[in-house]
Amino acid sequence: MPAVPALSYSSYRTYQECPLRWRFLYIDKLPEAPRGYFTFGRVVHSVLEELVAPLVVPSARRTGESERQRTLDEWHAGPTGSPGPGHWMTSEELLAAYDRAWSGEGYTSAEEESRYRALGRELLLRYYEFLVRERPMPVSVEEHLEARWDGIPVHGYIDRIDRTPSGGLEIVDYKTSRELSNEDARDSDQLSLYQVLVESNYAEPVQGLTLYHLRSLTPLRASPRERGTLAGLHDRFGTVLDGIRAEAFEPTPGRHCTRCDFRDRCPEFRTVPPAEGERLRRLVDRFESLRAEEGRLEAELRRTAEELHRAAEELGVHRVPGSRSVAVRRREEAWQYSLDPLRPLLEQSGLAARVSSGSPEDVRRLVRDPTVDPELRRKVAETGARRVKWFWELEDASSDS
Ligand code: SF4
Repeated sequence: MPAVPALSYSSYRTYQECPLRWRFLYIDKLPEAPRGYFTFGRVVHSVLEELVAPLVVPSARRTGESERQRTLDEWHAGPTGSPGPGHWMTSEELLAAYDRAWSGEGYTSAEEESRYRALGRELLLRYYEFLVRERPMPVSVEEHLEARWDGIPVHGYIDRIDRTPSGGLEIVDYKTSRELSNEDARDSDQLSLYQVLVESNYAEPVQGLTLYHLRSLTPLRASPRERGTLAGLHDRFGTVLDGIRAEAFEPTPGRHCTRCDFRDRCPEFRTVPPAEGERLRRLVDRFESLRAEEGRLEAELRRTAEELHRAAEELGVHRVPGSRSVAVRRREEAWQYSLDPLRPLLEQSGLAARVSSGSPEDVRRLVRDPTVDPELRRKVAETGARRVKWFWELEDASSDS
């Protein structure tokens, strides 16, 4: 098992959805077929990076030492092919950058590609006008941040981090998807992880989390997450990490399988080779008949035991000889306590720790304990009910003669 890679948001989500798909992607490193909408999102993000990168005024107050963070000089140099620092692209330059970045990978038809291409132009031009008006103060764009989140290695690429007017930071994540709501921003685990990454690497406080819905030019803003929310997400990341470390890569089929490229490798979808078909078919048929027989036998066993009980009750006997064995009637007694009235009783008397497990045996021990106040023992006993169960054992008939 290779070292567990740092978890990104999408890696975490993939494992949650299907651990086997995670293994195919992150350990076996199998490629996925390109898809038009992913290509589209990537192209739009890269053009926005090119547009915003020259405006970045990096924060000098990093706290992290992540080796993959860019240096100040790199920031000023800007990404390849972009204008120099501080230069606002013209809208013509923006469209030229879009044309350079365009890729037709993964579209299902020329018509689909041209529809997406027109959408991208419109969306970028409208966002450009908005940016020119708003004049954000970006401190980073497409920044790769890493952190050890209380022992869990995490990382992520953050579309943009802006300085707020009060000197804090706002995390911005662009979305090219169709629909987005305020709840998406409020509940987004992705934004929560980004908050952790930024807080681990920057000294300034995170003051806002924004999903930017590009199709409607709508910033969906949410407050930074409370500690409790982050602790819950940390637990879930921890569970994923534990699963990966334990090499728990079971397939988890569901609706997501329709967009999985690994169905031909997945045991949930692979078919039995024709050469083995007949042998396995017979095994399955046999298994099915035995299952049916098992159910029938269980029901018959229960009915016979009940009939024997009734006869033994009527006759007042506990031992009933058969041809080869003697059926011996046995009694099992168990106490059950209702925890609702029991808990306050024990808490008031300071004895709750004695039955913290809630097991009936602990309560019985307490009821029998002569050092406990008799009145309390009586009240505790009253919360219980005795359940009696009869059952039959078989003894060798020769040992009974
Ligand atoms: S087909 Fe479904 S169950 Fe199988 S690996 Fe893909 S997502 Fe998982």
